[in-house]
Amino acid sequence: MPNFVTHLECSLTGERYPAGVVHNLSAAGRPLCVRYDLAAVRAALPREALRDRPANLWRYRELLPVRDDANIVSLDETITPLLSAPRLAASFGVEQLLVKDESRLPTGSFKARGMALAVSMARELGLTRLAVPTAGNAGGALAAYAARAGLEATVFMPDDTPIINQKECFLAGAKTWLVNGLITDCGRLVGEGKAQKGWFDVSTLKEPYRLEGKKTMGLELAEQLGWELPDVILYPTGGGTGLIGMAKAFDELAALGWLRHDRRPRFISCQSTGCAPIATAFARGERFATKFEGAATVASGIRVPAAVGDFLILDAVRASGGLALATPEADIPRWMQLAASKEGIALCPETAVCLGALEVLLERGAIRRDERIVIFNTGAAQKYPEAVREQLPRLDLAQPIPWDRI
Ligand SMILES: *Cc1c(COP(=O)(O)O)cnc(C)c1O
Repeated sequence: MPNFVTHLECSLTGERYPAGVVHNLSAAGRPLCVRYDLAAVRAALPREALRDRPANLWRYRELLPVRDDANIVSLDETITPLLSAPRLAASFGVEQLLVKDESRLPTGSFKARGMALAVSMARELGLTRLAVPTAGNAGGALAAYAARAGLEATVFMPDDTPIINQKECFLAGAKTWLVNGLITDCGRLVGEGKAQKGWFDVSTLKEPYRLEGKKTMGLELAEQLGWELPDVILYPTGGGTGLIGMAKAFDELAALGWLRHDRRPRFISCQSTGCAPIATAFARGERFATKFEGAATVASGIRVPAAVGDFLILDAVRASGGLALATPEADIPRWMQLAASKEGIALCPETAVCLGALEVLLERGAIRRDERIVIFNTGAAQKYPEAVREQLPRLDLAQPIPWDRI
């Protein structure tokens, strides 16, 4: 398979770096982006050629960085369904609400997309010891893909990370540490230990390839909608790779001439009031976010008080004509219950905040009721037993059954 990567580029300064060697951040301390010869991709790959390809993210092989197929580490990252949600749409009074259900991916979250690429590239570049700070799902995904590749993984997570994330890392054999701090503290530990331990740092946006994996969300969405992008995308934002990756996908698709219109969706970056650095920076008109103090949310995947790609998220949101918004932490269980009870779609708590944002933005008129709206269900609700606190009523078989109350 020919490879179309030309170089890597600092996302802040544009400085160029060679492909095919190990990279973390740029000299300026910012994320690196993979660049492709898109004119050559355009000549080599007619859009129609995708039709006969397997229904997983490797169908976009020409837009991915792996050189040698033998290095691909995969658990079959399936194309995720784009579900219609008419009953949920009706409850918001909107015509078209679509849910891209990323919970179907290996390890139950879209982190699989990023880690499939990061671990494949680690194998290609000869790296054997990988380490990551995680809010939960990234650790689970790294643990699984490292196991699949026979590589060593070390995971640092806050000690109140959802229990399922803790156990999935343990089961997959990652060296897993609970830390009495936040993901930013875990990130510091990886940074401090890496020289001595020989780790490669797989933190969000501190290596270039998780972004390429998450980019495939945007490629898939475009293909599923017949190469016509929706009007609005609501996206739960933590480190921001998903949103930045989708923006990159749409740029690359436009350069390939694959999109039917040049119209881009407005990105709505959704956060919880429990951790809202991006929403705060957006409201203040700032390009770089200030660390959010006292971050606390059941939506653990978006409990990221400081993001190395903050300016990339804010740039992408503003360029799209969208906005960033935090909705009340206390409403998360209610939104989860609404989606599950209306549609049988079990939204993760991260995605639940998108419904809060949708309600507010419809009221404000920032989203019109006749627009095509897409939300990403970034993970499986089943990974968050902590987010639902309701106690179910009990029946005691030693007592008469209260049939009038059943
Ligand atoms: C990591 C994560 C997020 C945040 O994703 P980013 O792309 O890093 O902003 C959202 N939801 C879930 C379930 C996650 O695991």
